[in-house]
Formats: sequence, C-alpha cells, structure tokens
Amino acid sequence: MHLSRYPRLHFAHLPTPLEPMERLAAELGTTNKLWIKRDDCTGLAGGGNKTRKLEFLLADALHNKADTVITQGATQSNHARQTAAIATKLGLQCHLLLEDRTGSDTIDYNANGNVLLDQLYGAHLSKFPGGTDMNQAMEDKAAELRSDGAKPYIIPGGGSNPIGALGYVNCAQELLYQANSQSLRIDCVVHATGSAGTQAGLVTGFCASGSQIPVLGIGVRAAKAAQEENVFALAQRTADYLGLPGAVKREDVVANCDYVGEAYGLPTQGTLDAIRTLARTESILLDPVYSAKGMDGFINLIKENYFGENKNIVFIHTGGAQALFAYREDFGYPEVA
Ligand SMILES: *Cc1c(COP(=O)(O)O)cnc(C)c1O
Repeated sequence: MHLSRYPRLHFAHLPTPLEPMERLAAELGTTNKLWIKRDDCTGLAGGGNKTRKLEFLLADALHNKADTVITQGATQSNHARQTAAIATKLGLQCHLLLEDRTGSDTIDYNANGNVLLDQLYGAHLSKFPGGTDMNQAMEDKAAELRSDGAKPYIIPGGGSNPIGALGYVNCAQELLYQANSQSLRIDCVVHATGSAGTQAGLVTGFCASGSQIPVLGIGVRAAKAAQEENVFALAQRTADYLGLPGAVKREDVVANCDYVGEAYGLPTQGTLDAIRTLARTESILLDPVYSAKGMDGFINLIKENYFGENKNIVFIHTGGAQALFAYREDFGYPEVA
C-alpha cells in the first residue's frame, strides 16, 4: 500500500501528537495506560478529523478542474467548517447545505460555533429541514451552479467516500509509526464514529498492514447494526480502491452505539460529564456531538474493565470543540463568587 500513488494536497499539521492522559487514568483508577491522538490539532480552521480527508478530496477536486465545492452536514457541522476554510485558501467557492437535525432554535446553535466560522470563511450557506434528502439537494445545487457556468465538485457528508477515507488509512500508518518508534504496543484504538470514513480508513489501514490493532467506534447517530454495516461497506470500497480487495473482514468492524442518547446532536448527561472530566483532568476540550460521546463510551468501558488490565488504549480526538459555543446553554450559568 503506497498512498503517494493517490493525489493529495498537504495542509494538515502532521503528524498529530500522541500524548499520555495520566491525570484521566488516575481519576479513573485504571491499570491501563491511556493515550490520546490529537487529531483535534490538524491545524485547518481549528482542526479536526475532516482535514485529513480533505487533503485527498481537494486534490481530487483540483484534478477535476473544479472551481466550486459543495458539501452538506448538520447546522453545526465540523466538516462544513473545515471544507469552507480549505476552499477559501485554494481560491474555490464553497456552498454548504446545512440540515436542521436537532430542531434547536437558539441563537447560539444557529449562528455561533461552526456557523460563525463558516460565515467568516465566506461560505455560501443554505438551510434545509431535518429529513431532507441531502444528496439530492447537493445534486440540485450542482445542476444550478453548472447552468451558471461553474464547475462544482460534490464532497459527500463527512467527506466519507473511499477518497476521503484515505486520510484515515494515512492516520493508521502514522499511528503505527509513532507507536513503533517508542516501542508502544497499542491494544485498542477508540474514537467517535458518524459518517463512517474515519473508522473505515483506520480499519483498512490497520488490516492492510497486518497490525492486528482492534478499532472500536463509539456511535453518535445510528444503531449498532446499521453503523457497522455502513463502516464495513465503506471499508470494503476503500480496500478495493487501494487494490487490496478482501483486506477487511466483517468482524474487524466493531461499533458500540450505547452512548448516542436521544438523537444525533443532542448531548446526554454522560456527554456533558465527559466534557467536564477532560477539561478538568487533561485540559483538553471535547465537543458535545462527537468526541464527548466517544469519550463517554471510552470512560465507561474503562470503568467496566472492557479492555482488561495493563493495556495501552488510544483515544483518537477527532476535534469539534468549536461547536462548544453553540451549546453554551447546556452548561448553565457559571458560578461566580
Ligand atoms: C465528523 C466527526 C466525527 C466522525 O467521523 P466520521 O468519519 O464522520 O465517522 C467525529 N468527531 C468529530 C469532531 C467530527 O467532526
């Protein structure tokens, strides 16, 4: 597997740091060593996991002579924010189609956080009710732009297709290199899984290298069976794209979707507790939609001894803290003496 055969731009700050979480481990009283891979520090627009995918996707867009990119996500999409930033940097127009998946009517949710940043990066925003066929909406937007003479390139939600997933095949290779250079045996990798590209890329990268490192995705939206099927389907397509058909087996794809709560984008008590815990132990900021649901799962599974004793467990921080400001009301008013 040689990723340099695939078109790629280089704008992410890589490699991202791999850091120990000693205060969190002490707080949880675990014999496991806890690590965090700081993909919240990929640099672009405040960072996050979409930046790795966009290195491959934007290379493909330029290869196709696009002058405009279109993508879609929830109102507070981190993917939309990172796409808007790199489009501007490359001199491309950017259209973001935002779906109202939470029904929130607060000013914070609709105008602060990622939306504020989308606006600053000069993206064209349009809003759609929850349940809209967003793929069709992107096709309609592309047709409209084409009739105006533009050359649009559609990036799927979350940047999750085999091209975008290469960003996380690359992350798997990067993590293996970091671990090997410090003789760190990784026993499990855990992260928040949504549109599936992150987990599909990681699993494909770890399987293709024969590393036997298990990956556990903590779901933020779908139920377990659907999430695992989505990830597996994309992992198979990614392996095919790399010329490695059959590299990923169905049992290599594992998701735990017990921490979703009521719905996508709605934090649970556990989500908010995970944000406070990481802020007060490691001074690391999580987000209420993805990384804190993932961390809620990570913390609870450690407490339940899911990983066993004396293991090295790596949590991949996929970013998203920019959305915290959209969820300000969930944290109440600060206590001031
Ligand atoms: C998009 C996103 C995820 C999920 O990644 P997928 O590749 O969509 O599964 C996790 N965390 C954050 C902060 C994200 O923005």
